[in-house]
Amino acid sequence: MKTSVSIQPRPVSAEAPAASPHPVQAGLVDSYGRRATDLRISLIDKCNLRCTYCMPEGGLPWLKKDQLLTIDEVRRLVRIAVEIFGVRELRLTGGEPLVRHDLVDIIAGIRADHPQLPIAMTTNAIGLERKAAALAEAGLTRVNISLDSIHRETFAQLTRRDQLDKVLTGVEGAARAGLTPLKVNAVLMRGINDAEAPDLLAWALQRGFELRFIEHMPLDADQQWKREGTVSAEETRQLLSTRYRLRPTDEDRGGAPAERFDVLDRDTDELLGRVGVIASVTEPFCSACTRTRITAEGRVMSCLFSTQEYDLMHLLRDETATDHDVARRWADAMWNKPAAHGTDRPGFELESFTRPERSMSAIGG
Ligand code: SAM
Ligand code: SF4
Repeated sequence: MKTSVSIQPRPVSAEAPAASPHPVQAGLVDSYGRRATDLRISLIDKCNLRCTYCMPEGGLPWLKKDQLLTIDEVRRLVRIAVEIFGVRELRLTGGEPLVRHDLVDIIAGIRADHPQLPIAMTTNAIGLERKAAALAEAGLTRVNISLDSIHRETFAQLTRRDQLDKVLTGVEGAARAGLTPLKVNAVLMRGINDAEAPDLLAWALQRGFELRFIEHMPLDADQQWKREGTVSAEETRQLLSTRYRLRPTDEDRGGAPAERFDVLDRDTDELLGRVGVIASVTEPFCSACTRTRITAEGRVMSCLFSTQEYDLMHLLRDETATDHDVARRWADAMWNKPAAHGTDRPGFELESFTRPERSMSAIGG
């Protein structure tokens, strides 16, 4: 049975953003004084999994090929971000970026323009085994691989696809190709994979990967999210503490979303590795946010929870529009970034929350 999807994933964004008072050379500053130096570009909205916390069973109405940013448009946006705004990090995401047939060319193009730029990619790793070497060769620096369970049945239940084997071989391929440090992203769903959290951590530690637990956010297309259903960062730490001792690292977190812990053997105190917990719902880190997002069809989303998005595509496809024109609109969009997304408000519930019209897969997580 197909799940019905009531959200409209393609909102029209005709409204002009309120103008920023700063010249574009000031960077992507917002009215609360934050500066975005970390760019996330979604390359495609399509995906080959159907994770229950993200995508409906029947998929979504996908963008057509000519609606997606082209290689040249992605390169131009990255050039503007790096050269005008001083962006220092790039992450490619989706949907599933490996579904883009020209992914190697996109990365090679960006790398040719920016020999030193760290280029990371978030992926479900299906097909990565075959592509990892070419991606590394093209200039990809590292990957974050999403994997919520190492148990076949649980994986299939969460992703609605029986493809754990492909993900695990993809992980191995990425490690062999040197796409490291390799990080693993996991979302815990109550009653489904939360009890497996220590197993997943053991698996990651044995391989030298850094596992990061992300709290489930209200960005699922099925709109089933409930605050009480979210396995909180605090609960996650308690679950892991049943097998390991966690010690907060003494590093400065800066704008990083993950709070990181050293993982120690409970008996010997031997350092086994590190784990991160991203508490987007219960302990949001909005005041330190350094991110700017571009969707696969070229719209700026200043925050995952933005209800306003601003189109750059019409400028990218207007021969008379200069890089400065694109940069001006992008900077104005970021100037309007909300202070915080508010999921930590006491009593927060979807009924009192204007959720974005897109699911995570259509934003680019
Ligand atoms: N398909 C790729 C993947 O899964 O890695 C990249 C896109 S996916 C949208 C990026 C990240 O968002 C994944 O790590 C996924 O677990 C996370 N994600 C998706 N929906 C989420 C939600 N509702 N709450 C928290 N994280 C979510
Ligand atoms: Fe696809 Fe990633 Fe969403 Fe899962 S989380 S459905 S892999 S886009």
